[in-house]
Amino acid sequence: MTDCLFCRIVARQTPADIEYEDDSVLAFRDIYPKAPVHVLIVPKRHISSLAEVQPGDTDVMGRCILAARAIGEAKGFAEKGYRLSVNTGPEGGQVVYHVHFHFTAGRQRGPGAG
Ligand code: 5GP
Ligand code: ZN
Repeated sequence: MTDCLFCRIVARQTPADIEYEDDSVLAFRDIYPKAPVHVLIVPKRHISSLAEVQPGDTDVMGRCILAARAIGEAKGFAEKGYRLSVNTGPEGGQVVYHVHFHFTAGRQRGPGAG
């Protein structure tokens, strides 16, 4: 069994509330949501961090962004908007070392809000 939490979620060895799935991407609800809608979008294949992304990963990283678009549309945020963010490394606030996009929506954010 892998010691990567998100690989275990991808393998259905750890439960999660799945919001979206395709061949290469899985999205599931954050267990400690920081916004009214908080979904994590991950490549199914393990990539530890944005700091480790390789040229061969561009397709799956782009597919994560397309998944965000699909989630935004499905949840009614295509017009209102949402935020995608990727915490990277210790000073970037990354806790789980399987690269993931935070999709957050449902509250007003000012320009450049952190
Ligand atoms: P990071 O700080 O690495 O960018 O974000 C990790 C995220 O994973 C956090 O927002 C945290 O709430 C979420 N998380 C941690 N453990 C679990 C879990 O077991 N299941 C789910 N669905 N999310 C988790
Ligand atoms: Zn992993």
